Amino acid sequence: MLKVDKLGLDMKNLFYNFEELKTPCFVFDEEHLFKNYNNLINTFKNIWGNKLVIGYSVKTNSLPWVLCWMREHGALAEVVSEDEYYLARKIGFPPKNIIYNGPIKGKESLLEALNSGAIVNLDSFSEIEFIREHAQNHSVIWNVGLRINFDLESSCPSETIMGNEPGRFGFNIENGSLDSAIYELGKINNVRIVGLHAHHSTKTKSLNVFRVLCAHCCRVSEKIKNEITYIDIGGCFFGDKPNTPTYDDYAKLIKTELNKSPKLENCSLILEPGTALIATAFSYLVSVIDKKDCKNKRILTTDGSLIHIDPLMHGIRHHLEIFSDSNKFIETQILAGFTCVEKDRLAQLENEKELELNDRILFKVTGAYTISMSPLFIQNYPIIYELKNGNYHIIRNRWTVENFMQNCEVF
Ligand SMILES: *Cc1c(COP(=O)(O)O)cnc(C)c1O
Repeated sequence: MLKVDKLGLDMKNLFYNFEELKTPCFVFDEEHLFKNYNNLINTFKNIWGNKLVIGYSVKTNSLPWVLCWMREHGALAEVVSEDEYYLARKIGFPPKNIIYNGPIKGKESLLEALNSGAIVNLDSFSEIEFIREHAQNHSVIWNVGLRINFDLESSCPSETIMGNEPGRFGFNIENGSLDSAIYELGKINNVRIVGLHAHHSTKTKSLNVFRVLCAHCCRVSEKIKNEITYIDIGGCFFGDKPNTPTYDDYAKLIKTELNKSPKLENCSLILEPGTALIATAFSYLVSVIDKKDCKNKRILTTDGSLIHIDPLMHGIRHHLEIFSDSNKFIETQILAGFTCVEKDRLAQLENEKELELNDRILFKVTGAYTISMSPLFIQNYPIIYELKNGNYHIIRNRWTVENFMQNCEVF
């Protein structure tokens, strides 16, 4: 175990003493998550009181350690597959603390979720059909939410990911699908629509997006006969990035907009944050293992890879910090990864310290859609440490060949 002098220092000092960490590795800074989480909860609670529900988006970072942390701190688990559902159950979330979303819910887990009071947001007519087939055999009332789909791009030009293409999720409002869904569910005994789910991933995460989501929730809620007990506004918020909307901005705007419908005066607000909570809580540390010069450029091979921190190779520019005793500076150094893919270049350093073998580079803000999306390409999953109270300890071992082989016997 490694000791660090003091907490509350900046990252540089905090990570100064990490020579003994094996690389490549992720480092989870528990204090940072605690800060993000409290900030979100306290700010929204100021405005929403005990009507606030937080459902952590499991797919954003499904590391079991993180899920345990969320459970202990009172968050629900927001899951989008049967595997995620059973992972959440295994971690200890009771069904009523699970939000079950997405287009590929498993049948067995969906039945358990419906029967045990999970929050289930329906996505398609196949699911309504499934409910029709099974609802007759049950005496408990099944409460469901509906995910709404509409043309967000026309109200928020250039802000959506799909642009003019149709969104894939939920029941479309404009073409009457949502009305049909409400009608079809109304014909089934023992089923009640109690919520609306409006999650949209956008490029901008703007207040305008949330204004439009809320406006649609208000309009749709009028179509539903019984009481709407929750609006699930989804995730895709900014965390504490400077010059972006704050939690206070989001919370106030959502309150103001939803209050425009008398039907929603007493409803709960569900948030499904992923990135805003977890992105800044993880860093990724690599070591230089080789240097060579080619076409007047220095190429540094590291033991890390872009596939760990930018698995879809979108070209994300990372904040990084260099740890080197070198006092010479050179013009261009390319930081390359361990894979045999030419594009596996983590960064290009300009006019930086000339790095030597075993020097280390720390990539920050690497907690969202990294660990949960890493492929097992060329090397197995890296080790993950937690930094807590000044100590590092392992929260997931590096995967070995044995993990990879599973039940396969060598013949
Ligand atoms: C991915 C997803 C989230 C979380 O999104 P972030 O951008 O990571 O906050 C929340 N809800 C649903 C339904 C999702 O698909």
